[in-house]
Amino acid sequence: MAARVVMVGPPGAGKGTQARMLQTQRGIHQLSTGDMLRAAQQNGSPLGREARRFMDEGKLVPDDLVIRMVEERLGSPEYAGGFVLDGFPRTVAQAKALDAMLARRGERLDAVISFSVPRAELIRRLAGRRVCRGCSAMYHVHFDPPATPDVCDRCGGQLYQREDDHEETIGRRLDVYEHETQPVLEYYRVAKLLRETQGTGTADEVFARVAASVPAS
Ligand code: AMP
Repeated sequence: MAARVVMVGPPGAGKGTQARMLQTQRGIHQLSTGDMLRAAQQNGSPLGREARRFMDEGKLVPDDLVIRMVEERLGSPEYAGGFVLDGFPRTVAQAKALDAMLARRGERLDAVISFSVPRAELIRRLAGRRVCRGCSAMYHVHFDPPATPDVCDRCGGQLYQREDDHEETIGRRLDVYEHETQPVLEYYRVAKLLRETQGTGTADEVFARVAASVPAS
């Protein structure tokens, strides 16, 4: 059975790491709206230019832009056998749009995994986070440093600090999560899809909880 999974959680909760682990271990393709928007910025596309204003300030990109982008991408064959969405939906309007686009394809979600992590821990994780420009692998300056400073262990790419991981923007992103994204949890709780997961501990420990919530494919 194809698994269709959504990951919801505050910035720094580990959604990207867990989505990648699900992709590696279960072959379910990850789709990260944050990665797509950053790629659009790097390409200098109109979407990327429009999105940058919101992203650099830690605000959400408008629903219509993100929904259109996801609908186009989900139509590609690699997602026909299931997907794990990381960073989408982030508003109730996006969650409803996702339901509608899946319904048009005769599909529905199997599970929505949420991650809870204390705010102080999220700030520690985000402020020290470094990302590879080449393969998007993630590191932490203290908890998970690369062997050579600023160089990716996996692909040799250069590591950088995301513009929105600077301390002044982190607080705003966490507030945006509380106000705009937390209602999405209630939406999925009512739909009986929500699997609430503790996001603390090592990535492997969290993955054991995640894997138990995803139906075997
Ligand atoms: P992320 O990499 O998931 O932390 O996303 C980085 C930034 O991209 C967010 O702070 C938003 O500005 C934007 N973004 C990513 N996904 C969405 C979404 N589903 N809706 C609106 N904005 C988004």
